[in-house]
Amino acid sequence: MRSLEIFKKTPLYAELVNGKPIHSIMLISPDQSQLDDYAEMMCMTLFCSDTNKPCGKCNNCQKVLHHNLVDILEYPKQDDVIKSDELSQIVNGILELPYEADKKVFVLSNVSSMDMLMQNKLLKSLEEPPKDVYFILKVSNENQVLQTVKSRCRKIYLPNLSEDELDKLLPSDNVNKEEAIAFCGGSLSQAEHFLKQTDFKGNVDLIFDILLNYRNSSQTLMYSSKLYDKKNEFLDIISIYLKILQDVNYIRIGRRDLIYSSTHMDELLRICGDFSVDAILGMVSDAIKLIEKFDRNCNFNAMVDSFLLGILEVRHKCPM
Ligand SMILES: [Zn+2]
Repeated sequence: MRSLEIFKKTPLYAELVNGKPIHSIMLISPDQSQLDDYAEMMCMTLFCSDTNKPCGKCNNCQKVLHHNLVDILEYPKQDDVIKSDELSQIVNGILELPYEADKKVFVLSNVSSMDMLMQNKLLKSLEEPPKDVYFILKVSNENQVLQTVKSRCRKIYLPNLSEDELDKLLPSDNVNKEEAIAFCGGSLSQAEHFLKQTDFKGNVDLIFDILLNYRNSSQTLMYSSKLYDKKNEFLDIISIYLKILQDVNYIRIGRRDLIYSSTHMDELLRICGDFSVDAILGMVSDAIKLIEKFDRNCNFNAMVDSFLLGILEVRHKCPM
């Protein structure tokens, strides 16, 4: 409901309200929060009994918001991914009449994680659903979805949110809000994840401090001791680091309009003046290798040391 104003400007909304909505719609975005919001708003628009759809207040809208409208069937119910018995319920369920409304909507999450065999079984249902049946498929990575499944659906790519949109959607009383917007890359779920961290702003300051002021090996111990305690937040710290490097690249190619962290423009310009193009490329590739090592559970303190020394190395090896 929170993204309603954004949703109402989309062609999808106009189609749901005015036209004959297509029966199988695939929402595509890596941003899980946006996928959930859009699916919810679509369901409200389809079931709302008010003339100004979706009103958010009528009985049906309230039921959608509380996930208790019996003619909206959400899967998977138990696990993260739809399993074989649930797929049978879906395939048989489309043949049963709606209970209380004039239509039925199946909302399927994590479709890109379903294996190919299961996706294939779903195909038939998507192909010829009865006229009062709708499918909303939430997809985080369309490369993992069968072409045949995609071709049966209207594909809707959800755009990244702008800074203004994120500002309106996120709670205003969180100290990390400004930095969460700056480093989420337009993703609502990423921003919400950052807001939950107690010291997100402190982590942003630490990464800027390292990039701006770490210049010789005598400082390594000081910075590494700050990072050793942050194992649980380490992947987020690396994602802040990669976002900063990306923003530096945007400055270099003259695309400052793509930068969300414009409140840090002074720092970004200094980093841009300090590190060459080759240095930034090396740092990005080292950071990606570091994430792989982290996933393999390598010795954490050794990883931190090599992360820091790697920055020093490229600073000296690839001078401006
Ligand atoms: Zn309503």
